Amino acid sequence: MTTVLTTQDVARLVQRVGLPDLLRRLVSYLEADYLRWAEFDKTPRVAAHSPDGVIELMPIADASLYSFKYVNGHPKNHRFGLPTVMAFGVLADVDTGAPALLSELTLTTAMRTAATSVMVAERLARPDSRVMALIGNGAQSEFQALAFHHVLGIRELRLFDIDPAATAKLVRHLSGTPGLTLTVCRSTAEAVQGADIITTVTADKANATIVTPDMIRPGQHINGVGGDCPGKTELHPGVLTAARVIVEYEPQSRIEGDVQQMPADFPVTEFWRVLAGQAAGRESAEQITVFDSVGFALEDFSALRLLRDLSVQLGLGSPLDLIPQMADPKDLFGELQITAQRQAA
Ligand code: NAD
Repeated sequence: MTTVLTTQDVARLVQRVGLPDLLRRLVSYLEADYLRWAEFDKTPRVAAHSPDGVIELMPIADASLYSFKYVNGHPKNHRFGLPTVMAFGVLADVDTGAPALLSELTLTTAMRTAATSVMVAERLARPDSRVMALIGNGAQSEFQALAFHHVLGIRELRLFDIDPAATAKLVRHLSGTPGLTLTVCRSTAEAVQGADIITTVTADKANATIVTPDMIRPGQHINGVGGDCPGKTELHPGVLTAARVIVEYEPQSRIEGDVQQMPADFPVTEFWRVLAGQAAGRESAEQITVFDSVGFALEDFSALRLLRDLSVQLGLGSPLDLIPQMADPKDLFGELQITAQRQAA
């Protein structure tokens, strides 16, 4: 039987473990898998584009586990009462191909993206970073905010969104978080003032320039999350030119990341090399660093592994009859007859 984790199961799991602890565990699963980079069969995700969005499949495998995520990105979805990003995914056994886990990944994507952001920022942001600008206050934003607060020690968030209701929602959720000050700003330019880290997590299928070169200061780290699709960027090319740029998986990031705007030989460094000590992270206190995040299949693989382990530990999830359970595995036709007999009885 395949175990199914619904949105409610994952919400219960987060409640039982606690979001700060879950984010920390995600970071450790991510680090363990990023350190095994060479063991994975990797490919850029497969995308189906339409005028208002994209639907993507994200497969990856090592010698024992295979996973894929189905995910969309439709920034105008709010008109239909739907989120911009929706996802689900599967973890399967490589030896047999049997799907072991089918899980919601909408909530989980927000958590794994935030955990990835802080894992990278731990190596790229200045260690004394305490103030973060958070531009884009939609579905992903509270997860980014809490990951940076609990894991990296961010104490002040400077918020901006073109939709004041989105910022008000974030303030409603996070005001009262001990040790976290929220400052609502009137523009991105105002929000980035005095920030050690700038997180951009906006949604617009356009070559937007949320952060421009005049806004940035020496020593800042930019965590660019929302530029993740061809024709959908957030950083002005001048910001990239001024910075040391870290990506997840170069072949995918060249297509989807903010670096899609740059020449093919523009220098980027894959994060796994920094984690493994093969490349430098931040090279000086004054350097400007950019994490050009797009979301890579390995991060969903790690998240699915953690969900599988926690669902077993906590007894969450239900069995799903997704694949026929046959006494004789060659007798698939017999399955039809058994079902027909059961229905007739
Ligand atoms: P969302 O639609 O819920 O929120 C996006 C917010 O950005 C909205 O509140 C919108 O008003 C705001 N916004 C749009 N343009 C803006 C601008 N110019 N200045 C300030 N705010 C602006 O979407 P979400 O689920 O929070 O996702 C945010 C982005 O993150 C999307 O682009 C999504 O594709 C991306 N994303 C990336 C990853 C990754 O791994 N890199 C993972 C998940 C989502």
